[in-house]
Amino acid sequence: MEFFNPFEEEGKWFKGNIHTHTRNSDGKFLPEEIVKIYKENSYDFLFITDHNKITDYKSPFNDFLTIKGIEFNKDGFHILGLDIEQSFSTENLTVQQIIKKTNETGGFAIICHPYWSAITSPDILSLSGFIGIEIFNNSCEIEKGKGYSTIQYDEVLQKGLQVFGFAVDDCHSERDIFGGFIMVKTKSLDKEEICNSIKNGLFYSSTGVIIKDLKIEDNTIKISFSPSITVDFIAYGSNGIRIYNEGIEFDYAEYKIKGIEKYIRIEITNKENKKGWTNPIFL
Ligand SMILES: [Zn+2]
Ligand SMILES: [Zn+2]
Repeated sequence: MEFFNPFEEEGKWFKGNIHTHTRNSDGKFLPEEIVKIYKENSYDFLFITDHNKITDYKSPFNDFLTIKGIEFNKDGFHILGLDIEQSFSTENLTVQQIIKKTNETGGFAIICHPYWSAITSPDILSLSGFIGIEIFNNSCEIEKGKGYSTIQYDEVLQKGLQVFGFAVDDCHSERDIFGGFIMVKTKSLDKEEICNSIKNGLFYSSTGVIIKDLKIEDNTIKISFSPSITVDFIAYGSNGIRIYNEGIEFDYAEYKIKGIEKYIRIEITNKENKKGWTNPIFL
């Protein structure tokens, strides 16, 4: 079984958004304004990811971290390059070369909003070197009703690709803010630690459901969460199960692993249709 369980790691939970635009591209707010807005709404960190350029803005607050990023737009793909120090020209590069160069410059790459981009799972599977895909993008949901890319995600997981799923805001203004976020487990609010925890999958994604605990005991996944009405244990093909109790809220669910699921990821939905997603447990 391959699963780095953030709930068994020492440290604290930090809330952040990894996809943010400012007035340096098509966002409404100045970097200092957007940082203040997120900080005042109980976030701990923000990756600023303007289109094809790095916004070099350092948070002036001790308890709020900004990390440099960029959103590359190329051949129909949008790719987040996170923790990247320097921008580079993508003019003569393929999407695969952009991902490679992002990694070579010390950053890491995530494929943005496949549904909105009309990116299919074979398109995603033709690439390598990225750590995950956006499974929820708040801006794409609010503007086009195309926020969820969980089907594309399951399609690539079913083909054996082991990547993480991210919920993001892709914030441009007050319209698409505070929709999708990640909760990262680290020892402290430090750039290296946050980035390492993300790269190791020590986080979960959410649009509002808080996941409180997850453990695997006696081959059984045991998960507790803020009151919700549906828990889906999603696995390969027809494996897995939905736990649902006529719309009555519950805060705990478990699933006995059979061993044939290939992977299991958990998606929780509350009565406001907010969600929480664990990363996949690969068998
Ligand atoms: Zn985009
Ligand atoms: Zn964007």
